[in-house]
Amino acid sequence: MIAMNKKNQNAFQLPNQKNATKRTKETVYSSFALEEDARLLGRGKQYYIKTYGCQANVRDSETMAGLFEMMGFSEADTLENADIILFNTCAVRRAAELHVLGEIGSLKHFKNEHPDKLLGICGCMAQEDAVVDEVLKKYPQVDMIFGTHNLHRLPQLIIDWYKEHKKIVEVFSEEGRVIEDLPVKRTMDAKGFVNIMYGCNKFCTYCIVPYTRGKERSRKVEDIIAEIKELQLSGRKEVVLLGQNVNAYGKDIHMEDGFTKLLESCAETGIERIRFYTSHPRDYSPTTIDIMQKYPNVMKSLHLPVQSGSNEILRRMARGYTVDQYKKLFDEMKAKIPEITFTTDLIVGFPGETDEQFQQTLDLVRYCRFDLAYSFVYSPRSGTPAASMKDDIPPEVKKERLHILNDLLAEIANENNQKYLHKHLKVLCEGRSKKNKDVYSGYSEENKLVNFRGEEGLENRIVDVEITNVHSFSLDGKAL
Ligand code: SF4
Repeated sequence: MIAMNKKNQNAFQLPNQKNATKRTKETVYSSFALEEDARLLGRGKQYYIKTYGCQANVRDSETMAGLFEMMGFSEADTLENADIILFNTCAVRRAAELHVLGEIGSLKHFKNEHPDKLLGICGCMAQEDAVVDEVLKKYPQVDMIFGTHNLHRLPQLIIDWYKEHKKIVEVFSEEGRVIEDLPVKRTMDAKGFVNIMYGCNKFCTYCIVPYTRGKERSRKVEDIIAEIKELQLSGRKEVVLLGQNVNAYGKDIHMEDGFTKLLESCAETGIERIRFYTSHPRDYSPTTIDIMQKYPNVMKSLHLPVQSGSNEILRRMARGYTVDQYKKLFDEMKAKIPEITFTTDLIVGFPGETDEQFQQTLDLVRYCRFDLAYSFVYSPRSGTPAASMKDDIPPEVKKERLHILNDLLAEIANENNQKYLHKHLKVLCEGRSKKNKDVYSGYSEENKLVNFRGEEGLENRIVDVEITNVHSFSLDGKAL
């Protein structure tokens, strides 16, 4: 059990990316308990969490919100009204980091006027040596920095800050462990995120995640199933299983074909919908395709990042597969599940990428005809192997390649979507669209974003929707 440690935390515990690369075999499990005297700490006070990045960060913010509410805090509707403001950050691209730093910079005046308010940074940026150094030097308004492995320490860090109002930096740079029994405040009523594992051992040369999230460590099957059953009981229709590389699930706990077995156990809970992110082509087991095929509640859509269509670039990214191996896996899935939809991730402008290699990426996109792709311009991440390669593609060339790629992706996505026109799709209604309150929005089984009109009260229901119009990345429709 992890109880909060009362020792004074005034000394900074800075991140160390080198230590974060250590990997051992055993996964350490523990459980969280909040000390009695922290329960009333937040009475009359409010918190505000701003979340950047992937679903893992969204799920972490849900845990932090759960911790705040366990301590008696309530959620503020605006940043200005909050007593504690946390930025839960993403480190995948420098542009995202600069955005966060810009926001924090703009709060300098606000913090000077409200010295009693706590301003903190957590998440992946907090795990980076260079970022923490930069924040300490240039952003004195930041009161607290803690990392992805320190989430459970949040109550103690807040107690410490309220005692003396001294800056706190506590970032564990370790492999990480699995901590159960942390509270959670869910942000969505229709579906819930369920972490099945944490960390990554792949060390793709461009990626910061193995340094910020630690080693691959799997939650126990029974804990995952218990969380899914809780979500089911609360009326949620969909679970999204999360991990940086879900296909590696179970390796650290000596489970043979772990992800396939886990997926089958999840399917057998009977929850209406199951999705999972993110898959790695190298670890993908053919038995997983069989489970996707066998259970109707495992959605027939797959996010399978490929990153590049050039074997040479894939080799230098250390992705561990060739273009032909990716295509073979893709073809096998299509052969078994013809209706399956695919999404992917693509990077353009990786160091040394020639025009010909970029064309090979376009060729692969034409071959796979992805329904959607998250496409990025390569940006070096400090401490990763690719950061020491010469970033020799001029920015304007990177931009041009991204533009060409995005045009092709949009054209193919639009062509793919034509087949849904006038068809009936089952859409899990997540509520009113953020852009237009007159329509609902939700995702179909095929993972298509559908905006549709319908009578009142369709939230959190699976609705039959007739598609009346199609776009590249969304469909319009009306509830039947
Ligand atoms: S598998 Fe994904 S998370 Fe892991 S290093 Fe590669 S890109 Fe990063």
